[in-house]
Amino acid sequence: MKNNGILRGIGKYMKIDNLPEVFTAALPVLKKINESGYEAYFVGGSVRDLLLKRHIHDVDIATSAYPAEIKQIFEKTIDTGIKHGTVTVLYGGESYEITTFRTESGYQDFRRPDHVTFVQNLSEDLKRRDFTINALAMNVDGNIVDHFDGLGDLDKRLIRAVGKAENRFHEDALRMMRAVRFMSQLQFTLEPETEQAISDNHELLSKISVERIRDEFVKMGIAPGSQKAFQIFLDTGLSEEVPGFKGKKENLALYPQLNFSPTTEANLWALMIILLKLPNEKIAHFMRIWKNSNAMERQVADIVSFFDLISSRAPNNYDLYKAGLRTIVSTIDLANILGQPINGRALVDRYEALPIKDSHDLVVDGHFLLKNGIPAGPRVGLLLEEIKKAVLEGIVSNNEEAITEYIALNN
Ligand code: ATP
Ligand code: MG
Repeated sequence: MKNNGILRGIGKYMKIDNLPEVFTAALPVLKKINESGYEAYFVGGSVRDLLLKRHIHDVDIATSAYPAEIKQIFEKTIDTGIKHGTVTVLYGGESYEITTFRTESGYQDFRRPDHVTFVQNLSEDLKRRDFTINALAMNVDGNIVDHFDGLGDLDKRLIRAVGKAENRFHEDALRMMRAVRFMSQLQFTLEPETEQAISDNHELLSKISVERIRDEFVKMGIAPGSQKAFQIFLDTGLSEEVPGFKGKKENLALYPQLNFSPTTEANLWALMIILLKLPNEKIAHFMRIWKNSNAMERQVADIVSFFDLISSRAPNNYDLYKAGLRTIVSTIDLANILGQPINGRALVDRYEALPIKDSHDLVVDGHFLLKNGIPAGPRVGLLLEEIKKAVLEGIVSNNEEAITEYIALNN
């Protein structure tokens, strides 16, 4: 990398020398496009993350070639979003999204462009991107293209809209959530004009589908800078526009004071439910208005109920058995986040030492009880549960003989 490595004192131009493997693996793809007479660049998040030395999960490629031309250049392609200019190319065991340079216009509904127009130059394409740090491109030689001082903002650790922030949020209101999401993930600050534009336009977020807001909200919540990002989410009024948070600023104001960010989606939701002081019967509704899956809803309800339990009394072995390891571990994390540390190691050790971890571990089942003279009916299930408790508390050993004796004594 020129300029002594990091982004200090860099000018408008910069060249990266030692590209990581994710990029070098993709270089032949760019070269093939170049050889056919078209421009091709790495763009967006991967270039940003390269400069920040962050992990890069995938590289996006932008090109002056039309989708049909890309399909001619490469043998294996998938029509991912031809209308928007995106073709997926399979090359060297990897897949690459290649998108034709384009501009967008219209945005009558504050969320998606009415028209996508393919253009011939990169600079038009970079203009439509949300933030300066996301509007960087890099060619095959490692030269960085920076039209909006994204490099300067990376150096200053700023999230700044490309162009006039107000207009950009009018075009696509989701960008306001993306701003706080990137703040959290990158631990950047929000440039004041961009922040002001969010404050002035936060109501537009109501035009965006809950699913898309949720995805950004979760990314914000489980990233290391979530406390500061959440403060902006509250201060700008964005929180008033999302499901279940309206009028709840006071409850949510605790979030920025937390010691850590949650690291899992389930714990983020559990935390929200606890901060909002939602009673048990409202949890399902809250999870559903955020369009969460049933599996997520169950997982979160389990964590919240185990958290309530350990907040009120010491859990017995049957409680630990019913909660299961995943819920126990999540709840220990949650208690830590909330500054109510519990002896997590002790709980996990106790769980590990349980004689049974699920009902298959019990040597007897319903058939066994029926064979041993228990009449068919609800009593069978209840008795099985009683036996489990007795085994878990060490009152009876997990073997047929001991259990048969226990049944005889207790029936
Ligand atoms: P991540 O690491 O989360 O994938 P990313 O920057 O790659 O971050 P994506 O959502 O994958 O984010 O989008 C890729 C690029 O497309 C962005 O870097 C940005 O240039 C552009 N982009 C994505 N969404 C928008 C949007 N709503 N408005 C404008 N540009 C966008
Ligand atoms: Mg991406």
